[in-house]
Amino acid sequence: MKALNYIRVVLIEPTHAGNIGAAARAMANMGVSQLALIRPGDFPGPMAAARAAGAHRILENARVFDSLDPAISDCTLVFGTSARLRSIEWPTLEPRAAMQKAAAHGLTSTVGILFGRESRGLSNEELERCHHLVRIPVESDFSSLNLGAAVMIMLYELRRSVPGQENISPDPPNQPLASAADMQHYYAHLQRVLERIEFCDGQSTRSTRLHRKLTRLFNRAHPYHEEIQMLRGILTAIERKVVQANMENPKTG
Ligand code: SAH
Repeated sequence: MKALNYIRVVLIEPTHAGNIGAAARAMANMGVSQLALIRPGDFPGPMAAARAAGAHRILENARVFDSLDPAISDCTLVFGTSARLRSIEWPTLEPRAAMQKAAAHGLTSTVGILFGRESRGLSNEELERCHHLVRIPVESDFSSLNLGAAVMIMLYELRRSVPGQENISPDPPNQPLASAADMQHYYAHLQRVLERIEFCDGQSTRSTRLHRKLTRLFNRAHPYHEEIQMLRGILTAIERKVVQANMENPKTG
């Protein structure tokens, strides 16, 4: 199925090779083939292969990365799956609504679906890469699913959103969206300027929370590439003015 070619399953630091195999098997069942592994434990190996059953091609083609950013740099839509609520609330969807978006988007552009560590899920920094958080509704006092099971549920909902494809119109309509790499460069630039104009100091908890809230705001807008270029142009103009002002009024002592 064409829409599924653009879907990438990203497992972040999966500790148990068996879970990598189970995820690959679920992917093969549901027709998804792009697997990215960030610092996997014990991979490749016999355990992953055994749990993958016949899905060895997915494991063979899996790409292994040292960090998340290069694994999603070309993605223009990123979902993070999580069993937990967060201190700063993130836009959250239930699996079906999320995967309907993924199926529509995946007709034209790469979609990343992130899955966290067995021990502690996704970090806040990883969450900041996501446009939406997805929580699979389960019992509130036993909310954590096995990693392979979580992959299976998400991809099942994805597949259900694709057949027939009657209701799916390509998204985005006419303009390229900003990629994950564009967004990360923008956030780094924004942070630099905010520190430069002494709006924040870059170290404190307040500054971290500010950064996270700004990230949430811009991720929610899901800007086009061109819009991010425009925002970066504004930041560059601010930087230029600050340099000019400093030259005209050098601080003494
Ligand atoms: N103890 C971890 C749970 C990790 S389970 C925590 O507190 O977050 C491993 C991964 O499976 C999670 O990071 C998430 O990607 C996925 N997962 C497990 N349960 C889920 C749920 N109810 N909804 C969405 N994703 C879930």
